Amino acid sequence: MKRRTFLKNTSLATVGLSAFGVMNTFGNGFGDTYKVNEQRIVSRIAELAKFGQDAKGHGYRVAYTPGDIDGRAWFINLMKNAGLEPTIDAAGNLIGKRKGKNPLLKPIAFGSHIDMVPDGGNYDGTLGSLAALEVIEILNEKKITTEHPLEIIIFANEEGGTIGSMAMVGGLTKEGLQQKSQMGLTMAEGIKAIGGNPANIQACIRKKGDLKAWLELHIEQGGILEQENIEIGVVEGIVGIVHWEVTFEGFANHAGTTPMKLRKDALLAASKFITEINEIALKIEGHHVATVGKIVALPGAYNVIPGKVVLGLEIRDLSVEKIELLFTQMEQRAKAIAADTKTNISFERQANESKPALTDKVLQQTIEKSAKALGLTTKYMQSGAGHDSQEIALITPVAMIFVPSVGGISHSFQEFTKTVDMVNGANVLLQTVLAVDKR
Ligand SMILES: [Zn+2]
Repeated sequence: MKRRTFLKNTSLATVGLSAFGVMNTFGNGFGDTYKVNEQRIVSRIAELAKFGQDAKGHGYRVAYTPGDIDGRAWFINLMKNAGLEPTIDAAGNLIGKRKGKNPLLKPIAFGSHIDMVPDGGNYDGTLGSLAALEVIEILNEKKITTEHPLEIIIFANEEGGTIGSMAMVGGLTKEGLQQKSQMGLTMAEGIKAIGGNPANIQACIRKKGDLKAWLELHIEQGGILEQENIEIGVVEGIVGIVHWEVTFEGFANHAGTTPMKLRKDALLAASKFITEINEIALKIEGHHVATVGKIVALPGAYNVIPGKVVLGLEIRDLSVEKIELLFTQMEQRAKAIAADTKTNISFERQANESKPALTDKVLQQTIEKSAKALGLTTKYMQSGAGHDSQEIALITPVAMIFVPSVGGISHSFQEFTKTVDMVNGANVLLQTVLAVDKR
């Protein structure tokens, strides 16, 4: 939004930038009567959870499985009842449209995903999807027509690596379509199974500027908000992820006859390196994380000094420069360790890296403002997990609203978000949609 446009709109007293003055109540005149229906959200979360559930009550709505297909059919029905005229695009994404007063304006889109990881929880993706629908229900009940058209998008197979949203921005390749999905079908077969058209996958592509904005409410999936007793997280971006395969080469020799001082122990070098990674990551200020999550020591016997070790190093941060800075320091330490341990250490950067995706500053402020007007506490934070928003950021300004995850648990059947937090998040989404519409 340009500053001039904003100033023109201030007479409408929109929920806007904090820089332009504090507003304690919603200047849009909607006030307290525009609140989501708590009971409806809670009962729909429970209803959707039943699809694909096993005898133990654990969920299995993995993309393209019968549970996913049945859950989607249920959601499509709700979209129809809400007057959204749902369609399925070529990638299998569910799209529901609501007309605005001005058909020339670009649609404001919001939603999330309803597929899950195996044995996953009932809130990841689901909350954002049902809250998006809840926004429409409230607008219907209050007989509000927004200026902009609205679109609910429920992305397909988010847990497969944001496949549906990736397809929408033109990033799902022919090779990608042939990759096996979590449940065994190829992506192409899976997309077909949910009503998409993989043969003409480009048909789902949305271009830069096709949407006015994308908003996604999501559970935090970490424990920061709960620990700090904050109600709403304003997401600054989704972290970039870089992987390196690190190889340590020493000399595999007899563990009984080789004196300690004469060894070239690759595993000893690797251990020192792992400790250093942790220390470097702790020493440098910021929210970055660095992890060694896998390691193989060869030949792997009690009585042989390890001659070769291969480990996986992962660094995540919102800034590419920060990732590079961390890595450079780690690489330098590795050189010293190699000299100390008489080993050779080499790094191979992996091709699958994902770039950080930043959310839109003005949308961030709109979310903060909406939350504050509802009397909610907020915190600017990054998302350490991937989301559809990171793909959609390639074609439109995006923003994400986080609500607390109890115990920071996610991707688990023990995942839980309190009703009060779901309702808070949905209300912030509703007010943010209305505020964006006024601009
Ligand atoms: Zn998710």
